[in-house]
Amino acid sequence: MAVDRSETVILKPRTDKREYRRIVLPNSLEALLISDPETDKAAASMNVSVGHFSDPEGLEGLAHFLEHMLFYASEKYPVEDSYSKFITEHGGSTNAYTSSEHTNFYFDINSDSLEEALDRFAQFFTRPLMSPDATLREIKAVDSENQKNLLSDGWRMHQLQKNLSSKDHPYHKFNTGNWDTLEVAPKAKGLDTRLELIKFYKQNYSANLMQLVVYGKESLDKLENLVESNFKDILNNDRVKPCFPGQPCSSEHLQILVKAVPIKQGHMLRITWPVTPNIRNYKEGPCRYISHLIGHEGVGSLFYVLKNLGWVMSLSAGEGEWSYEFSFFCVNIELTDSGHEHVEDIVGLLFKYIALLRNSGIHKWIFDELVTICETDFHYKDKIPPINYAANISSNMQLFPPEDWLCGSSLPSRFCPSILNMMLDELTPKNVRIFWESQKFEGCTDSLEPWYKTAYIIEKLTASSIQKWVDKAPNEHLHLPAPNIFIPADLTLRQVEEKVQFPVLRRKTLFSKLWYKPDTTFFTPKAYVTIDFNCPLSNFSPEAAVLTDIFTRLLTDYLNEYAYDAQVAGLYYSIRCSNAGFEVKVVGYNHKLRILLETIISKIKQFEVKSDRFSVIKETTMKDYQNFKFQQPYHQAMYYCSLLLEEHRWPLTEQLEILPFLEADHLTKFYRDLLSRTFLECYIAGNIGSTEAESIIVHVEDTLFKSSQPTSKPLLPSEHLTKRIVKLESGLGFYYPVEGLNQTDENSALVHYIQIHQDNIKLNVKLQLFALLAKQPAFHQLRSVEQLGYITVLMQRNDSGVRGLQFIIQSTVKDPAQLDARVEAFLKTFENKLYEMTDEEFKSNINALIAMKLEKYKNLKEESGFYWKEIVDGTLRFDRKESEVAALRELTRQELINFFDSYIKVGTPQRKTLSVQVYGALHSAAFQSLIGDSSQPQNTQIRDIFSFKRSRPLFGSFKGGLGLMKL
Ligand SMILES: [Zn+2]
Repeated sequence: MAVDRSETVILKPRTDKREYRRIVLPNSLEALLISDPETDKAAASMNVSVGHFSDPEGLEGLAHFLEHMLFYASEKYPVEDSYSKFITEHGGSTNAYTSSEHTNFYFDINSDSLEEALDRFAQFFTRPLMSPDATLREIKAVDSENQKNLLSDGWRMHQLQKNLSSKDHPYHKFNTGNWDTLEVAPKAKGLDTRLELIKFYKQNYSANLMQLVVYGKESLDKLENLVESNFKDILNNDRVKPCFPGQPCSSEHLQILVKAVPIKQGHMLRITWPVTPNIRNYKEGPCRYISHLIGHEGVGSLFYVLKNLGWVMSLSAGEGEWSYEFSFFCVNIELTDSGHEHVEDIVGLLFKYIALLRNSGIHKWIFDELVTICETDFHYKDKIPPINYAANISSNMQLFPPEDWLCGSSLPSRFCPSILNMMLDELTPKNVRIFWESQKFEGCTDSLEPWYKTAYIIEKLTASSIQKWVDKAPNEHLHLPAPNIFIPADLTLRQVEEKVQFPVLRRKTLFSKLWYKPDTTFFTPKAYVTIDFNCPLSNFSPEAAVLTDIFTRLLTDYLNEYAYDAQVAGLYYSIRCSNAGFEVKVVGYNHKLRILLETIISKIKQFEVKSDRFSVIKETTMKDYQNFKFQQPYHQAMYYCSLLLEEHRWPLTEQLEILPFLEADHLTKFYRDLLSRTFLECYIAGNIGSTEAESIIVHVEDTLFKSSQPTSKPLLPSEHLTKRIVKLESGLGFYYPVEGLNQTDENSALVHYIQIHQDNIKLNVKLQLFALLAKQPAFHQLRSVEQLGYITVLMQRNDSGVRGLQFIIQSTVKDPAQLDARVEAFLKTFENKLYEMTDEEFKSNINALIAMKLEKYKNLKEESGFYWKEIVDGTLRFDRKESEVAALRELTRQELINFFDSYIKVGTPQRKTLSVQVYGALHSAAFQSLIGDSSQPQNTQIRDIFSFKRSRPLFGSFKGGLGLMKL
């Protein structure tokens, strides 16, 4: 039988020059080939139509565990982890996920290496090896992955919703798996998990249930040959696609109010209804239409009304978990403390808004607006990394006909009021499930969810009790949104006068600096504008930092109802704290960008503290700060590492201490001081002419500095602030032991940081090459072999231009001091591998790194992100990639070894390390004995972060005048 390539026309974006071809191999494997001659990264993704819904009874997590095991080894490549090693050493990355009904594996790689990568990848689906020893080890990784999720509210609440459904429906299942479900319980029943894995694999991994996407620079014919030769041997047992008819919720699971206790501070309301899956009518797009309206944030919307009542912080609406058979429509509302006291009113108002939608009928103009937005979005979509593109498409392939593989359900086109009404009719009190989370329910619950142990209680609701809530809810003026003024109509491309390769300093005054880069690469009607307000007072003290934070949050809050439409129309903005003050960013279609930016600037100028909004924002800020203690322990370790290294970084504990005493008046006064002197560092790129770019900044200057009552004056020369980094000590290993902030969390974590140098092209490339060489061996040793924990990473670190290496590990099996010892043991064994590296291996890694550096930017955002970092750090190496490639071409093996011997090798006199050790609940005894042990080398133990920082010298800043950037 030959490959079937019966022509199907696949709908693609107008601006997309790539070629696509669908083929079906004789074994029924369906594949999409994507040929992109310009790409420097190739990618592939295999979707297998089986997921955790198919887990055998009593072997929860088997599908997910199999996903892990396929990475280990194959008959053809029996060396463990050699697949990942090959991909990493050729500039790529790998990943996979398991969902309810599919498992998706994907990778990317430098485009020259696609052929061999495909051969290795294909072994997953032909002849994998799952040794008993590896199987036993990897159960620990799955268990550690589950340990990481145990105290995460997202996972806990998801499982609670699943648990409160029919036991006969697979939606009810626990999907991750753990040591108990994959090892202890099967053993007790006389089952061998490995044999079960193999059985599951043989049954389900059948070619007719697989969809493959391959993305490369080769021609379609060449890609077709590659796919055919590599994937034709996948067995096809004509397995019928698993199907799970029926609904997860029977009547006992509807009309319920579930009160649950979360880990974090804050109150959440999740209102859900079982509905007809949107996919059954995706051309009519019922979910998109209804979620657009219920989730709207403009004047008259549900959110607008609830926000003005001071009851909610955020609201989102849309389809939740779904399959072809069932689906949930969800409205998630983050409540304020006051909102928590008005849940009946809030639910009442939600049903009032739904009734309004029903009574006012389906509006063609709203549907048409959505169609315009969706079409513009599809046809002017930015290129994304091929790995994500391939994975998205392969998961679409089992759901949509080939012509819609690229667009999926993102292009509604048929206006059909009856289908939209049908979904609206499903959002009734009779069908509703309400999940309400708050720590206030602690002690008032009577049940425990079995997998995550979330405490909850169920109350029955009736349609009439909800009707009472509707009747007594306040009479607010809810109405449909006005037409969206931000939909771009002008999508023409500007003629670029000067074809510059790098950003140029276009304008410099006492008030601002404008860096400008026209689009010479992407040819999209989009632009990128960043204005960094350098305000010396913004980070002057912990109090100032908190007030600046509240100021940016309040500004965003004030702008929301106006600017929400811009985001809907693909024009995004953010206002957030930066190192120097705060940063305003607007990214998206350039047509209406100026209108939005000028509104933001005028809001900054006319900023007033509204006391009701101040107290809501203060409350949320407080919860955010408090919730830091529930972050993953490895996040905590990374936070301490930054706190130890950055000169002006204030501890959250101090900010949390100050926050309760801050009032609206403090901010009113602070705002005037904050903006009284400022300097604007600006970057404008994309589809905007240079004259226009200048006029944008002139307008901002005029508004702030030159009106009759100017808000701001320029900075005095002494006021330009810079961020500086603490220098560690050669030959000394500092360590900072600390208990985890949440002492019910059993996980410990380690960041082992090796500080190396300040930005320097030659040293940079040595560090990068070392990181590339050591990354996979470190993962293999510390995770696959030693199974220290699911999170085990070796990566580079860059703090404002100061570079180093860091190992990040989260573990329940070893305490942080022991983890630290394992890192050093790894480096010692790796030493020999490095010395014994052949010239060929060295060259191949150099080439891979060069290819990674020469990778073109995918889109304007990526390009701008790179240049903006050069500006913010003050390094201004816009030609960094080119210079580093040149340095790499000259680098010798011996130079790399010398670099390792001088900076990284354990025991070498120049080595500078900092080990941040967060002790979890399982290791608190180890922590106590460490702290109490006077025989420990006290000179290297950091007992107080601030004394340590005060006692250390700092690296110079690149903004110092002697550096690259002149202030
Ligand atoms: Zn996993």
